[in-house]
Amino acid sequence: MVTDFLLSPLDQELASIDLVEGVCTDHPIGPLTTYRVGGTAARFVRPINPDEIKRVAAAVAVARANGNDIPVLVVGRGSNLLVADSGFGGLAVQLGSGFDSVDIDGVEVHAGGGASLPVIARQSVAAGLSGFEWAVGVPGSVGGAIRMNAGGHGSDMATSLIGASTLDLATGIGQSRSVGDLAFSYRSSILLPTEVVTSVKLRLELGHRSTCEKRIEDLVRWRRLNQPGGRNAGSVFTNPSGDSAGRLIDAAGGRGLRVGTAEVSQKHANFIQVDEGGSAHDVVLLMAEIVRLVGHVHEVQLEPETILVGF
Ligand SMILES: Cc1cc2nc3c(=O)[nH]c(=O)nc-3n(C[C@H](O)[C@H](O)[C@H](O)COP(=O)(O)OP(=O)(O)OC[C@H]3O[C@@H](n4cnc5c(N)ncnc54)[C@H](O)[C@@H]3O)c2cc1C
Repeated sequence: MVTDFLLSPLDQELASIDLVEGVCTDHPIGPLTTYRVGGTAARFVRPINPDEIKRVAAAVAVARANGNDIPVLVVGRGSNLLVADSGFGGLAVQLGSGFDSVDIDGVEVHAGGGASLPVIARQSVAAGLSGFEWAVGVPGSVGGAIRMNAGGHGSDMATSLIGASTLDLATGIGQSRSVGDLAFSYRSSILLPTEVVTSVKLRLELGHRSTCEKRIEDLVRWRRLNQPGGRNAGSVFTNPSGDSAGRLIDAAGGRGLRVGTAEVSQKHANFIQVDEGGSAHDVVLLMAEIVRLVGHVHEVQLEPETILVGF
């Protein structure tokens, strides 16, 4: 395999640094996603602190400078990723335990890039802060949420972000980015696939704790009523301007459509659910069928929100 040839100089670089969790070969990354389907990454590292990730980035940068153009994938909590059954032939990097912290200082929240969005939502409310309740039902990391400009219920990351620290795993260059630098738009930011968000600063507003707690309860109830559980990655397609992908799929007769082990949710037509032991192949075939159906019925081209890896 071409990637084996390319990876060996990277392996030499990675072997020269000491990582608490070490480097894994052919590591299953499909199970790290909320679809829980898909294959392995040729190499996988989970740096546990800023010093370790800098050393990983330096190793990748040296390998790249020597002409080994290794593909790099940042894996967050996998709630917006679909990994091909054949896997990913590069280096997958997931932030380890030292990036999960959430600290509240007045109206500011300082979080590691791997911190969970629902945890930040609940901790900020417990501290009497308002403005991040929307994230309680979004099972991602705050780093992944910046990359995607995740949002919901009339808000998004751009609304409360002050700035973020990023590290480019391809060059080893770290930057402190303000919200303006990140050029957010609907479910999109300027971040490159090789850039990892290592920490984040949010500014929220003082609120009434009981009102914010009630809002959290309402949002959790709303999600339970309107969205399915199980193996899915949230909305599969972005909403076309002025419309909703779920409405279009539903009106085109897509609700309940099945390909092999993947099915359009009966509860929300922009969600795909996969059976236990299912395949990523079935999910992409179903996505293609939905795009075809909606194009045929509505003459609208749906675009995936899910990030496809290794296809
Ligand atoms: C049940 C359910 C409900 C959801 N509801 C919503 C919703 O309401 N609104 C919404 O916007 N999304 C929603 N999502 C999608 C998903 O939770 C968000 O996109 C989330 O922000 C992805 O974060 P993650 O850590 O899981 O990223 P991943 O899925 O792991 O990765 C997504 C992208 O972010 C990149 N990435 C991950 N971590 C980092 C990092 N630290 N630095 C830089 N890049 C990184 C990855 O390389 C990839 O390109 C939902 C998903 C599920 C399963």
